Amino acid sequence: MIQKVKIVIIYSPPPTRAESAGSIPARRVRRLFSFQRHLLSSRLLRGAPHLNPLHILDEDYCGQAKCMLEKVGSWNFDIFLFDRLTNGNSLVFLTFHLLNQYGLIELFQLDMVKVRQFLVLVQEDYHNQNPYHNAVHAADVTQAMHCYLREPKLAQSLTSFDILLGLLAAATHDLDHPGVNQPFLIKTNHYLAALYRNTSVLENHHWRSAVGLLRETELFSHLPAEDSIERQLGSLILATDISRQNEYLSRFRTHLDENNLCLGHASHRHFVLQMALKCADICNPCRPWELSKQWSEKVTEEFFHQGDIEKKHKLEISPLCDSEANTIASVQIGFMTYVVEPLFAEWARFSDTRLSQTMLGHLGLNKASWSAMDPEASGSSEEGESEPGRATEEPSSRALSQGSQES
Ligand SMILES: [Zn+2]
Repeated sequence: MIQKVKIVIIYSPPPTRAESAGSIPARRVRRLFSFQRHLLSSRLLRGAPHLNPLHILDEDYCGQAKCMLEKVGSWNFDIFLFDRLTNGNSLVFLTFHLLNQYGLIELFQLDMVKVRQFLVLVQEDYHNQNPYHNAVHAADVTQAMHCYLREPKLAQSLTSFDILLGLLAAATHDLDHPGVNQPFLIKTNHYLAALYRNTSVLENHHWRSAVGLLRETELFSHLPAEDSIERQLGSLILATDISRQNEYLSRFRTHLDENNLCLGHASHRHFVLQMALKCADICNPCRPWELSKQWSEKVTEEFFHQGDIEKKHKLEISPLCDSEANTIASVQIGFMTYVVEPLFAEWARFSDTRLSQTMLGHLGLNKASWSAMDPEASGSSEEGESEPGRATEEPSSRALSQGSQES
């Protein structure tokens, strides 16, 4: 039986063309719908003077945060510490720093006030109350994306436009995430599920929300490529839908087997960007244990919270969301085996670098640590594994549903 459950999802509808043209009354009306943004009006936006990029962190910036940004390309980058040092503004500061460091603000003649306004709105439209799908996850994915963009194969071939898209897609890829997964939205008849016909519901919403903010701030309104940016941003964000994991992975594997990825072609570069974003999105198990463990705890907390809502409303409890039937270790071992390992094994074939080996090394160690904590869960995942590092082509629905929540 389909039941309706009232959950709070803050939705800021994308503006119409007329609204985008800057009609003030329309903007005011739209603001009324944007409760989260309205309630959490930003310190940064309130009367802040126009600053140059070197001083943008003025008020909140401390020496330690600045020091950390000097090592923003390090795989050991501690995003949790950076978030604390920036008073919860990691996404704004990290993304602004990267856009500036790559010279994108100057190259695309972006208005720095608009860039800052856009990033603040993006950060505010993530839900702080989500244990996992919040702005810190977005900042973490953006930092990982930066690491991948610096890998030799990508750095040699990507254009500035590609880099701009990659960073923006990473920063916005989970925008306005409600903290529950697509099956939950479908079974509770949520309007977003109807709007997007039960297909990539969350990813479509993240994309459209990002486009809404781009138009609201008119960040790219001076560029002839504005439409193309919006479309390509969508294509990148939609690639993070884990239910389409096999499709992307098979295509990637075929290209690698046939050695025919030609990064001189825009379409191939775009595909590699999609794969890079997919890796960045689920790279938590490839981070050093101290960081990885925190992410594992947070994502499981979010799963179990969904399970609690389902229990309370007598809905069927989604796989991995029942706190009585799962442990953090069991959830992680399945996710690593069926979703993360196959993807990163192919990525390491594509980009056979020290970073890839480091990531696979952490992945192995982290899996061993979780296995030691829950030998039973470890045993059940091994039964389904066909080949180390190249897990089964058809991950169980349990693993996929897990991936769909973690991405
Ligand atoms: Zn994500």
